Amino acid sequence: LIQLYAPLNILGMAYREIKQSLTDMEKMFSLLHQNAEVQDAPDAQILHSSAAAVAFQQVDFGYEANRQILHGVDFQIPAGHTLAVVGSSGAGKSTLSRLLFRFYDVNAGAIHINGQDIRQLTQASLRAHIGIVPQDTVLFNDSIYYNIAYGRPDASREEIIEAARSAHILDFIEKLPQGWDTTVGERGLKLSGGEKQRVAIARTILKNPPILIFDEATSALDSKTEKAIQAELAAISANRTTLIIAHRLSTVVDADEILVMEAGRVVERGNHRALLAQNGLYARMWALQQSEIEQTGDPALA
Ligand code: ATP
Repeated sequence: LIQLYAPLNILGMAYREIKQSLTDMEKMFSLLHQNAEVQDAPDAQILHSSAAAVAFQQVDFGYEANRQILHGVDFQIPAGHTLAVVGSSGAGKSTLSRLLFRFYDVNAGAIHINGQDIRQLTQASLRAHIGIVPQDTVLFNDSIYYNIAYGRPDASREEIIEAARSAHILDFIEKLPQGWDTTVGERGLKLSGGEKQRVAIARTILKNPPILIFDEATSALDSKTEKAIQAELAAISANRTTLIIAHRLSTVVDADEILVMEAGRVVERGNHRALLAQNGLYARMWALQQSEIEQTGDPALA
């Protein structure tokens, strides 16, 4: 038992870190098979659907019993639509995506997909329907081919090449001296933030899920890379139900609906034009960001 302690402890630490950062969740689940926080209901249903409507109904949630993080969060994303969430750091934006992926169960209220409570679905089928482009993609110390194919390990080479093309990373790969066999990750070629996000986009294109979560990088990318990533995001989110956790308002301008969150509550909602017209928090954030761009050319949102 003592011999088991150290590896289990390390696994536990890795589990907590990965759980926190929303990265690489599928790998974690295939490693651990079970998530201690949530269990499949005995009569859990398999989600079968190529279109998914998402609804948060009066969701309350806290990671700890004595500290509530979300208060009555309520919204709907019709199948194929895009909802963007903005708000200051710690407002609870990423928590929404952790709950949708069912890392945790809500304390009150419910989350539905196509009218079914996600607690009544098998975790495996729920997660098979959700693709995540995280802030910081974890790369395995393996070839770039493996790292993209990981989105759907049974994909053919042609499909993998097509996914890389759609994610605008094919040219980059083909120009590498060792091409698709180039080792990336900690012990291989280090990719930039924008390149890593394109690997994640290519993985997601391969996985082809009806629901997409895009957790925008907090760190500012150069404006050319940012524009390119936004164009790729627009292409893959077309016809998918998309939740964007946004740090830059430029990403959310075209969303069907924008939620503005503050301290775990939705304080404003509407599309970009409607929110500007409301002249509230969103309008102030927008004005602030525009003046930052004018002054520094840097579109990062603090
Ligand atoms: P950011 O823009 O900085 O990413 P966010 O709006 O996404 O912030 P969340 O990550 O959803 O914010 O966090 C909301 C609150 O929940 C924060 O106060 C944070 O400290 C807390 N929190 C997040 N994860 C945990 C956790 N695993 N255990 C306890 N508290 C947590």
